[in-house]
Amino acid sequence: MSIAQSFLNNDKRDIDGKEAAREIIDVIKSRKQSENVQPGLAVILVGEDPASSVYVRNKSNRAEECGFLSRQYNLHEDTSESEVLELIESLNKDNDIDGILVQLPLPDQIDPHKVIQSIAPEKDVDGFHYLNAGRLMTGDIEDALLPCTPTGSLYLIKKALGENLTGKHAVVIGRSNIVGKPMASLLLKENCTVTIIHSRTERPEELCRQADIVVAAVGIPELVTEEWIKPGAVVIDVGINRITTKDGSSRLVGDVNYAEVYPKAAAISPVPGGVGPMTISMLMQNTLDAAIRKKNHN
Ligand code: NAD
Repeated sequence: MSIAQSFLNNDKRDIDGKEAAREIIDVIKSRKQSENVQPGLAVILVGEDPASSVYVRNKSNRAEECGFLSRQYNLHEDTSESEVLELIESLNKDNDIDGILVQLPLPDQIDPHKVIQSIAPEKDVDGFHYLNAGRLMTGDIEDALLPCTPTGSLYLIKKALGENLTGKHAVVIGRSNIVGKPMASLLLKENCTVTIIHSRTERPEELCRQADIVVAAVGIPELVTEEWIKPGAVVIDVGINRITTKDGSSRLVGDVNYAEVYPKAAAISPVPGGVGPMTISMLMQNTLDAAIRKKNHN
């Protein structure tokens, strides 16, 4: 059986991200105990963006649930760039802290690139520092911290297809530094043949129709319709888009038209309940890995 049916939920096609995320947290808790480490995560939020506040709270809560030291810094909207850089500098030196995360987006007065590059690479649990990005790009991932959403997506792909992805044709839709590019690098490392589709790609649906694995990370609601999909493909929907329905209510949809693609796909990650829950679990995994590496290097 090529599809790991046991992990797909009752109807055998939805890839259950909530269950996978719980599974990862259980492993983290037992590894933390067996390695005898006390990981520490610092999360920095600048301003009061409601969505960012929810994400940050969820990250801090999950860190506490894992038994990590969890510190949350809520800074005022007007905080200057140098104040944020000073805080990061002190956290870089803080032996209790293994992971530093700055919630994006940042207010206009703060350059996000400068802030991210100021985080010590060994504490960069988002995996956005150039050193970690470069390690992934060159395939030298042993000591790297990898971006959470792509690693979570890869985990789900393996839940559906098994560990060996060699020779599969993977199409990644989107080329952002946060999702699309690192996703493509991870799939390449798994010996997939990788095609990246982006905003300037001609006839994207023709290319996508050749894929065994499709990862959509675009930010356009339901862009990927059934004619983009080869029968039996595994489809991972990273998109999170809030749309207003005809009756005026709002709901979350992905970048994939779920209703159309579902009957054609061998497996599909739903929105919500697919990739979303994986990102935080992978953040906890990175924090634990950083703590274990620190212990082993000391
Ligand atoms: P982004 O805006 O940085 O990048 C979007 C990419 O899509 C760009 O590379 C662009 O070239 C490509 N694109 C734009 N129009 C296109 C088109 N018509 N056809 C093909 N490609 C096109 O976005 P991002 O940060 O990569 O996020 C993408 C989506 O994933 C968003 O909906 C975001 O909310 C979601 N996201 C989810 C998680 C999660 O935890 N589940 C994490 C990060 C991002």
